Amino acid sequence: MAQYLRDYLTDGSVLSARRPTINEFFLSSYTLSIYTGCEIGCPYCDSWVYSDRPLNETIRIPLDLPQRLAAELETVDRGDLVAITALSDPYQPAEQTYRITRQALQVLAERGQPCLVLTKSAAVLEDLSLLQRINEQSLAIVMTTLLTVDQRLAERLEGKAPPPALRLEMLAELRRAGVPVGVAIVPVMPYVNDTDGSLRSLLRACAEAQVDFVIWDYLHIPNERHRARVHELLARLGTYPASYYRDLYRGQPVVSALYRQDRDRELLSRCDGLGLEARAPHRLYAGRIAPRNEAALLLKHAAFRDRVQGRERVAALQRELAEQVYAGTPDERAMRESPLYPVVQEILRRESGGGNKG
Ligand code: SF4
Repeated sequence: MAQYLRDYLTDGSVLSARRPTINEFFLSSYTLSIYTGCEIGCPYCDSWVYSDRPLNETIRIPLDLPQRLAAELETVDRGDLVAITALSDPYQPAEQTYRITRQALQVLAERGQPCLVLTKSAAVLEDLSLLQRINEQSLAIVMTTLLTVDQRLAERLEGKAPPPALRLEMLAELRRAGVPVGVAIVPVMPYVNDTDGSLRSLLRACAEAQVDFVIWDYLHIPNERHRARVHELLARLGTYPASYYRDLYRGQPVVSALYRQDRDRELLSRCDGLGLEARAPHRLYAGRIAPRNEAALLLKHAAFRDRVQGRERVAALQRELAEQVYAGTPDERAMRESPLYPVVQEILRRESGGGNKG
């Protein structure tokens, strides 16, 4: 069991700075990390890179986080979504004792601040009424990370995380209770969970659980320490040739563009075949976050599809427009070139009227 370090946040903010660009995966303008450290300790997790000590050994419990959050939210636009996604699972075992995540949700609920929670733990269901309350006022989404539905592989990849089937059941229950849900296939790991067969069964399970959407991203290897950890994991999983990763990463933190393009196409066409949304669908957040955020997301999500399907020029245009719209400086002339012009214009018209539900 990890060691819990009860602490007070003496300096710095609990919320990240407002993102310079909206996060197209999590719909967020701000990120909130509840605990520091994560007892679940998945070996592929990026958080190892940002942790001074082993990620899963010491968990810092920020006792005054809810009060600090309430104070910081005073200066936050009510249409900006806060994502509780960063660096640790908000429903890891410490939450059973300290309930800092629950208190943070209470603060968000008092303001009706839109939020998204990423967790592997079904303990999130204990806060269902809070999530429903936020979702009635603005928007609350719950996502889980899922790499595979192969229970044996999951045990070897992330032995301390709840089984995949339990995570899908948890999403189905949230959805039945009216809370929108999504699956993060993060990371897609070359040679581990990236084969056509593996992705097919994972996406089919997501479709059967009727999740509202999926997203995916690829394994990051930001430094040598993480590279060593990944190689250790690969060695435990089977006989993976190290040269395969060397060729795909070539010493870079991200996998080659060619590989990403190939897997993006495969994943997107499988999603389309299953009627599964790849990225949060517009109906989910329409009128529930600030209009400029809504328009920026719509453009970014369209740009993603355009890029994967080879419409590079229009993808670049939509991406640039998304940045401008989010920053509140849309170029009207460039905007007219976008196939989404009429709908974006309609959304932005609400901006001056302050039309978001938050
Ligand atoms: S549960 Fe999430 S945050 Fe925790 S170690 Fe695993 S991937 Fe990282």
